[in-house]
Amino acid sequence: MNARPIDGKAIAADIAGENAFRAARLRDAGTVPGLAVIIVGDDPASRIYVRNKALACEKAGLNSWVHALPANTPQERLVGFIRQLNGDPTVHGILVQLPLPRPLDSRAVIEAIDPAKDVDGFHYHNVGALVVGEPAFYPCTPWGVMKMLEHEGIAVEGMHAVVVGRSTIVGKPMALMLVNAGATVTVCHSKTRDLAAITRQGDILVAAVGRARMIRGDMVKPGAVVIDVGINRLPDGKLCGDVDYASVARVASRITPVPGGVGPMTIAMLVANTVHGAEKAAGIAADRETRIA
Ligand code: NDP
Repeated sequence: MNARPIDGKAIAADIAGENAFRAARLRDAGTVPGLAVIIVGDDPASRIYVRNKALACEKAGLNSWVHALPANTPQERLVGFIRQLNGDPTVHGILVQLPLPRPLDSRAVIEAIDPAKDVDGFHYHNVGALVVGEPAFYPCTPWGVMKMLEHEGIAVEGMHAVVVGRSTIVGKPMALMLVNAGATVTVCHSKTRDLAAITRQGDILVAAVGRARMIRGDMVKPGAVVIDVGINRLPDGKLCGDVDYASVARVASRITPVPGGVGPMTIAMLVANTVHGAEKAAGIAADRETRIA
């Protein structure tokens, strides 16, 4: 078997085109979708992520504002600022770049965001909606994976999906989205015994761990669809995923590369969520646009 790559860049470009179309339709109706991004402190990686998010918004014709606050910003000030953005009708999406510096309480900060503007999908309200399978803002990375599968015509219903990783931002919402779409899902993590025996059962295997090339070809079911969420920086500065591409591509039927796989989808879905928030605020949104399956 020689796996066919799934071109995340091309799929993300399609979604970016749709985002731009929907944003233009909104502008014609008198609303410019707007995303406010808050970054606290000066972590260099976070600054790059934030800049890329703002650029993607501008490219699609959205307003975007980056609010850079000092690392010693008190919790009350940050929460007060979020409340101000909650009440600003020109802001349709609010994103707080994580992780926050200590001693800020990320959970309390996320809960201060109006769920109707929580385009990252991390507020308990949106998490709960995902659990019960109702439309909501869903976390951008796993939501992007679902869109990729849909775009490639991969029907997950009835498949056994194995998700490696159980974080709040990727692994758990990924598992929920797959189960809502009709897959039978197994979630693995650092305490899982005999990981390879489980990953070898996956018709779909999603790796979201953060360990370079830990999924090797002998851990993959022949013909499986392999989605690599991991982004790891090697000592030579190059990026690689959690999947050992060369050995896995010999076994799998489809595979996402790193870079150029899941990564571009995350930002495309963030812009899509912000446009959707603006559509809802303008009264022209269809809930099915956020529904899975
Ligand atoms: P976390 O560190 O929050 O979670 C990692 C998960 O992997 C945990 O559930 C952990 O288990 C599990 N794990 C760790 N070691 C093992 C192991 N040896 N065997 C099995 N499971 C293991 O990471 P994130 O979920 O935030 O991110 C995962 C990866 O995805 C990272 O590389 C990150 O950079 C990337 N990422 C990519 C994005 C994109 O846009 N493409 C967006 C977000 C993240 P336990 O819970 O038991 O500790």
